[in-house]
Amino acid sequence: MPESPSSEVRKKLETLRNRFQDKTISEIEGLVASIFSASQRPEAIGELVAAYQLLHRLAGSAGTLGFTQLGEQARKLELAIKPFADQVTEGAEREHVRQQLRQLLASGFEKDLVGLGSLLGVADPVSTGWHKPVPVESDNQFVLLILDPDQQHGDLVSQGLALYGYEVRSLSSADQWPDSMGDVDLVMIRDTLLQDEGASWLSRLHKLPVICFSEAHDFATRYRLARLNVDACVDATLDIPALADQVEQLLAEGLATLSGKVMIVDDDRELLEHYRVVLTSGGMQVRAFDDPSRMLSELAEFRPDILLMDVQMGQYEGPVLARMLRFQAEWLSLPIIFFSSEADRDLQLDVLARGGDDFVTKPVSDEYLLRTVRIRCFRARQLDKLVSLDSLTGLLKHALAKTELNREHARAARSGHSSVVAMLDLDHFKRVNDSYGHGVGDMVIKALSNLLRHRLRDTDIIGRYGGEEFVVVLPECSLVKAVEVLEALNKDFAQLAFKGGSEEFSVTFSAGVAELNAYESGEQAIDAADRALYERKRAGRNGVTVASESNS
Ligand code: GH3
Ligand code: MG
Ligand code: MG
Repeated sequence: MPESPSSEVRKKLETLRNRFQDKTISEIEGLVASIFSASQRPEAIGELVAAYQLLHRLAGSAGTLGFTQLGEQARKLELAIKPFADQVTEGAEREHVRQQLRQLLASGFEKDLVGLGSLLGVADPVSTGWHKPVPVESDNQFVLLILDPDQQHGDLVSQGLALYGYEVRSLSSADQWPDSMGDVDLVMIRDTLLQDEGASWLSRLHKLPVICFSEAHDFATRYRLARLNVDACVDATLDIPALADQVEQLLAEGLATLSGKVMIVDDDRELLEHYRVVLTSGGMQVRAFDDPSRMLSELAEFRPDILLMDVQMGQYEGPVLARMLRFQAEWLSLPIIFFSSEADRDLQLDVLARGGDDFVTKPVSDEYLLRTVRIRCFRARQLDKLVSLDSLTGLLKHALAKTELNREHARAARSGHSSVVAMLDLDHFKRVNDSYGHGVGDMVIKALSNLLRHRLRDTDIIGRYGGEEFVVVLPECSLVKAVEVLEALNKDFAQLAFKGGSEEFSVTFSAGVAELNAYESGEQAIDAADRALYERKRAGRNGVTVASESNS
């Protein structure tokens, strides 16, 4: 029988615990021996420093790996021995330190120290309660489920949303919800189906984004729907573009909280591996390593959303590494989060005062680790988006789109593959604004953005080039294929029915395309696509025109 993902994670965590146990048994033996020898021979007093460092490390890691009692006891001993280690470092008289240490041992410390090893036998049960298998995205087609007793409305909504590339399934009653629909990404449901709060299938709505069709705007109804975890309420109209926009936003939020790129640097290998297992099984992309000197090259290659690091890593100090990273403008806004122990309060304030960074206190539970990392990745991405994405459409802003286009031009030149650039402009858009108002105009711009985002590949570059003008770059795509894709989009966009007051209307766009690698620079390719676009406008709009030799 294949193992469930949870039991696989459990096994990995158990293996790590065993490894930690094996390693720590001998470390504790060494620790006890060196404290005793320091108490007996003044020349061995220097060993207290290493003993203190080991206790500090155990205090931080043991709890995270499931040995809570060991971690707590190590913390207690760490605090007791710290003044001695400090004295040694400051060069105090050895015999004097030794005498004090003997007193400490006699006052109960010896018993605690000797008993430390036995706490390795007391482990918390391995819990994988936080672990929910992450859906594998085999392709990026989202599945939407519509539950609407008004079958006609359900069907019309289905047809409309299908144009955006969603797979839509429509049911007229929730009782028809079969078990095999675990791949549903979002549910749209009529409010009347949410009357019976005891319905058994309601639990399936948990964790899924839910849009409710509801005409009721009163406080009581809306409050009740919110309590049932409904994420958005829309009137049961047939404003498909508005609905598609809502769907798009909810799906994007869900994805952003699920995934994220985390880099972890920690010199404790078991701990590092533990973090990696927990975060990876929670769906995060993780790059973890124990040698801080690799940090710059790893960062440049992996480009994480956030960086997690230990405060003390052998000869390196986390806060110093953080400051070093800020030398490079590229990493100025990278959120850096330190693992630190309760005992490091002063250091925490110190680092916080220098701005921007944050802490996770060790020991950290698996669930807390996953949640906090998810939230921080999500926030980091949101911030990044604010800076680089256009707020109305969520597409790349002009400057960034151009940078990406130039990058693709260089890439195509290097590898010899064919890539295509297209410029799109809405037809007679002034009329839309004049007839229905700017707000409705904005909705049309958003609708085209959503359509482009959904129907193009993840690797395609889509930017809002100007007000109602878009630039699209299709890497590794032939001119013929690009024209085919754009013509299909052109046809489908023209079918979208927009609402302006009581009127329905549709809008078309014109596009000009050029092969990126047929021009010396990205700039020239854009100009060629632009000229083709205006040729299309002159020839009657609504369609796709390829840049010809004569206008290149
Ligand atoms: P053509 O078919 O020749 O492109 O005709 P057009 O009316 O679309 O002409 P043009 O492209 O020159 O006009 C663009 C209009 O788009 C002008 C401006 O008012 C409007 N516009 C630009 N940005 C926005 C925006 O963000 N929102 C809205 N609602 N309208 C915008
Ligand atoms: Mg226009
Ligand atoms: Mg224009």
